[in-house]
Amino acid sequence: MSTVALKEVTKIWPDGTTAVDNVSLDVQDGEFMVLLGPSGCGKSTVLRMIAGLEDPTRGDILLNGEPVLELPPRDRSIAMVFQDFALYPHMTVSENIGFPLKLSGIEPAPRQERVDAIAGALGIGEVLARRPSQLSGGQRQRVAMGRAMVRRPGIFLMDEPLSNLDSGLRAELRAEITSMTRELGVTTMYVTHDQAEALTMADRVAIMRKGVLQDVGTPTEVYRRP
Ligand code: ADP
Ligand code: ADP
Repeated sequence: MSTVALKEVTKIWPDGTTAVDNVSLDVQDGEFMVLLGPSGCGKSTVLRMIAGLEDPTRGDILLNGEPVLELPPRDRSIAMVFQDFALYPHMTVSENIGFPLKLSGIEPAPRQERVDAIAGALGIGEVLARRPSQLSGGQRQRVAMGRAMVRRPGIFLMDEPLSNLDSGLRAELRAEITSMTRELGVTTMYVTHDQAEALTMADRVAIMRKGVLQDVGTPTEVYRRP
């Protein structure tokens, strides 16, 4: 069971910019929540605070009802994927995906079993021995997702993961991402500035503008409202 709750969260940068302005939002167990809004409206800052990479200036962020900053990082069960993939260039696909398990001290045999299973599910089972430079953009993104999912996180945070890919591949990966997260039952927060992406992927959409949460609802609800 993994829920995320923001309670009146504000982030003001040292230069006085209010990036996130009194945002409250509840994400349910297993829900696919899309955070939609133009560049600079504070979406990434929200994700980074949930991941514990930034502290809120005011307000609370709760994971399963517990304040995130009171949980030791290893107990947070959060994985995050970025648009630039951030793969380790000197490691093979297999080593990239298995790296979080290696860090947790999982033995090579069970590690490989888990890597093979997740790579198969993501359609990259044939390229496990390659390095990132030998992959297409879509394959790199699948490796980044595999590495994020390999420890079975309760919460999956994705920041514009498809923005560096061409439109055909984006459409394909949208469908893969939603089916993968639903299959795994993982609670997902997905950041995008692309309305079509939000409409096709979300269980619910949270619309942000200039740091403020403007609306939250199913795609049908938010696009019917005046
Ligand atoms: P989005 O993800 O919607 O594009 P961001 O959360 O990245 O928006 O940025 C929100 C605002 O906060 C922007 O004005 C941005 O310039 C500013 N900002 C983001 N990160 C920092 C930072 N580390 N220091 C200062 N300002 C930042
Ligand atoms: P995005 O919109 O995809 O979040 P940005 O270009 O806004 O990307 O930010 C890239 C990085 O730069 C992030 O780590 C962000 O925190 C940081 N950043 C953004 N704006 C500022 C700023 N005004 N001052 C310092 N760091 C910033």
